[in-house]
Amino acid sequence: MKNKCLQRYQQTLLMMQDRSRDEISRMIQVVLDNDMAVGEHDRCVSESIDKELVLEHTEQAIQNMVCNALTRIEDGTYGRCLQCFHVIPQVRLSAIPFTPYCVSCEREQEK
Ligand SMILES: [Zn+2]
Repeated sequence: MKNKCLQRYQQTLLMMQDRSRDEISRMIQVVLDNDMAVGEHDRCVSESIDKELVLEHTEQAIQNMVCNALTRIEDGTYGRCLQCFHVIPQVRLSAIPFTPYCVSCEREQEK
């Protein structure tokens, strides 16, 4: 991943660090709304992002995920799924920069 992108995610994560769960879910909603305006193709991708991820987690759990994501940026493993090691699509990272899993692994975890 390019440094520029990494920096952007890092900034977002640092911002999220002192937000409450409600504020984070609002931030994600804004990203998703912007995505919707981009077009039909991108919309298919955003449908795979669920805001539910945030709503299901406690504030503490989200802060932990944000903190872990910042650590992964530091050690250079950020942007890859922790389970299958595939690259997580940027559109998903833009909406949920702290997510440790790609969409399919996220679904697996829920089972
Ligand atoms: Zn995965």
